[in-house]
Amino acid sequence: MMEPLLSRLRPRKEQGTYALSLVYGKTVYHYLISQDKAGKFCIPEGTKFDTLWQLVEYLKLKADGLIYRLKEACPNSSASAEAAAPTLPAHPSTFTQPQRRVDTLNSDGYTPEPARAASPEKQRPMPMDTSVYESPYSDPEELKDKKLFLKRENLLVADIELGCGNFGSVRQGVYRMRKKQIDVAIKVLKHSTEKADKDEMMREAQIMHQLDNPYIVRLIGVCQAEALMLVMEMAGGGPLHKFLIGKKEEIPVSNVAELLHQVAMGMKYLEEKNFVHRDLAARNVLLVNRHYAKISDFGLSKALGADDSYYTARSAGKWPLKWYAPECINFRKFSSRSDVWSYGVTMWEAFSYGQKPYKKMKGPEVLDFIKQGKRMECPPECPPEMYSLMSDCWTYKWEDRPDFLTVEQRMRNYYYSLASRAEGSPQCGQVAEAACG
Ligand code: AMP
Repeated sequence: MMEPLLSRLRPRKEQGTYALSLVYGKTVYHYLISQDKAGKFCIPEGTKFDTLWQLVEYLKLKADGLIYRLKEACPNSSASAEAAAPTLPAHPSTFTQPQRRVDTLNSDGYTPEPARAASPEKQRPMPMDTSVYESPYSDPEELKDKKLFLKRENLLVADIELGCGNFGSVRQGVYRMRKKQIDVAIKVLKHSTEKADKDEMMREAQIMHQLDNPYIVRLIGVCQAEALMLVMEMAGGGPLHKFLIGKKEEIPVSNVAELLHQVAMGMKYLEEKNFVHRDLAARNVLLVNRHYAKISDFGLSKALGADDSYYTARSAGKWPLKWYAPECINFRKFSSRSDVWSYGVTMWEAFSYGQKPYKKMKGPEVLDFIKQGKRMECPPECPPEMYSLMSDCWTYKWEDRPDFLTVEQRMRNYYYSLASRAEGSPQCGQVAEAACG
């Protein structure tokens, strides 16, 4: 499909109106942007926004009546864009830089986020080449503005749904910082929610706010406006299990090990910081691209006290029993070692390419199964070294289970051994894939 090359925005003589020009193929299309009586901006028949910036950002995400959504700005359009955006004089970045687009899984397969400095011979995107490897606040200038509560005027919420849950929906958006704009995922709490749910979302935000690791979805902040919104960095590739379903031929075991190693790194960080996740599962591992995973969903997570190694829940709740260690279900005791158990189940889900664990069993039956010393079988594609590690994660007594320090090391050794074997072999990329049995 032909893509528009450039777009340009300029003020028209007629007060309060702007002309948006878009080159698509060999044709230039012109659109009128006008303001209604309330001062809201829109293209004819389009969605209305309070600021020009929000409209432009929206049109980058959605065509909304244009021939195509906006891509790159015309290089000489910055001056006119600034003039055109009287509400945004402090943000020269608006309309002057081509925006990095979020990762998506399109109908042709996976479109990874472009690498920052991609060389022609090195096609594979590395996590550190993406915009979400470092915190957007790693820039000291941006850090000056770091606060838990964000201003609504800097946030654009698009009506593009990334996912949903009991709480409401997760929408795509853009957050404007001092020097740049970043793609974000926004968890929007539905209006009908009770105070208890709002408190729960705020607890999730407080936990995420304390974490900063490349393998964990970062919180940008919270916005209290038309709804309570949790603004997070974008991991647009969707959950790990969904990504892997039906991809045995396409995604080699080495790629699965790579992603699981990243999850182990994120969990090792949590263990070091004395946080327990309590909901680690493939559904809560989100992909930035095919080679980059981040842990998400901190709704059940807890920060442990400095001298505590576990958290005791007051009562049992709506728990993901199939991912829980025996001591969680029997004694409501949660620790990094019980997260290790969940990591084992996550490994099983990944190496079985998105299958559901303990398929035919109900949650309580699983506990009996485990008590009898039984464990899930090795998935057909799973290498023996990886099945041995997941079996160790399912050690009944938590004291005898490995910690994430050990798990990460074993995952790393295995993944690196595959990588070095592949480098030495003439068929580079087709990493050796020894399966169980
Ligand atoms: P959750 O309730 O946090 O598990 O989110 C529900 C769904 O929303 C997930 O399965 C994802 O598809 C999507 N989602 C949540 N957080 C993000 C994020 N940071 N980036 C992209 N999509 C997300």
